[in-house]
Amino acid sequence: MVLLSFLNPFSEEAEQIVREKSSLEELFNKNKDLIDIIAHTNSQNISNDELIPHTLAELAVKRLEWFVRKKNDKKYDHNDYSFLMNPDMAIYDIISFYIAAQSIGIRFNPNSRESRVFIESQGQLVQERLEKLSTSLRKEVVAKLLNQLIPLDNISWTSLGELFGSRKINLTDLIIDQGEVILDKEDFIYRFSDKIIGRVPEKMYDILIGDQIKELIINRMIMQNTENYLIKVHEMASNIEAHPSLIVIADEISKMLKERTSIFSGSGGDIQASKLVGEAFPPCIKNTIDGVSSGNRNDAIVLLLTSFISYARLYPSVFKNETNLKISDLDKGLKITNNEILPVIYEAAGRCTPPLFEDDPQEKLNITAKLGFGVHKAPDLNNEGESKWYTPMSCEKIKIHLPVLCKPDKDCKKISNPLSYYNRRKWIMNQSPDSKSPEEKNKSTKKED
Ligand code: SF4
Repeated sequence: MVLLSFLNPFSEEAEQIVREKSSLEELFNKNKDLIDIIAHTNSQNISNDELIPHTLAELAVKRLEWFVRKKNDKKYDHNDYSFLMNPDMAIYDIISFYIAAQSIGIRFNPNSRESRVFIESQGQLVQERLEKLSTSLRKEVVAKLLNQLIPLDNISWTSLGELFGSRKINLTDLIIDQGEVILDKEDFIYRFSDKIIGRVPEKMYDILIGDQIKELIINRMIMQNTENYLIKVHEMASNIEAHPSLIVIADEISKMLKERTSIFSGSGGDIQASKLVGEAFPPCIKNTIDGVSSGNRNDAIVLLLTSFISYARLYPSVFKNETNLKISDLDKGLKITNNEILPVIYEAAGRCTPPLFEDDPQEKLNITAKLGFGVHKAPDLNNEGESKWYTPMSCEKIKIHLPVLCKPDKDCKKISNPLSYYNRRKWIMNQSPDSKSPEEKNKSTKKED
């Protein structure tokens, strides 16, 4: 059933297809059969030749382009990418999956934006491909996929440990009884029917588990397997010389992501990067900048302030845009990072009691790591991607982990993250007549006249 491999590129059949039908020498050759399938895909937009991948290399890049455009581009048209949902494409799709995975794995760190977009795009593809199936076929396919991915009747919750560890799934998403994850309807009724009072057990199963939890597990396992594959390729790449075609494709992917994300981060939101406005900082950040005493000091500076200041200065619309960017996408030569962001963090660290770096010099390395540059003394473009650029923690987390810093004021009511507070306050401040330049004041007076 090639359809299963269309959904799970890690099936034995998919791996066999790659072994037998892919050749690194043909990645840039025009593929007539591929073009023909795409051109005959239902509702595929063929008005523009650029929409159609002509080679396997182009198809590998299109998989990621689809995902970033779908997420961020207001002009996104699903019909530009209908071919990605066409099971007739299965063989080419599987080959292009491995081309993209190997290119990214060889060239980029597993924490890089390229890796993360690829993993997320694979999860999204699986979900949308399942949604295209009829109800009965979807049930059959889900059961078979589950069997491929977890070939056991009783799933111990510890066997999903990797998914919990990487936060791809939460324990609270699942029903667990005596250490086993309950997915089967009969099993659920057998175990819980006498405990369910006033409700029909079958209905409770549909609400609590149903097919949605099975599909969630499938989706997350395929994402996890994709991540593990990238890590494996990346580790191997240090000992083996990479095929030049894969390097070219990796660079194409990176270029496409750079272009697409710069278009979207510029036009997608009304919250643009600008100089830091201290008056708009929320109370928790002002308290941190004033200096924190030892119990909360390290987390306040390294986790809270570092992420807040860097995003507030460079990418205040991160939660709105939902696009993964690196610091260098917004601050090419790291001038802003070195001259505006780090001084605020280091000065706040010096105001702590006792001063953070005197007491714990290692934390300077952790600050660099939280900015996405790995564990090093200072940010260096050569190390970017060794760690993630950490996003600001939510108010909920701050209240739990750093309660002394959270002293809410009236503007804290409607927000769930200090960065949202900052964006909102800045917006309010911009509306006030005092914040307008003389020219702007003139204009509005004339309008009123
Ligand atoms: S409610 Fe949120 S933004 Fe306001 S002080 Fe507390 S943590 Fe900071």
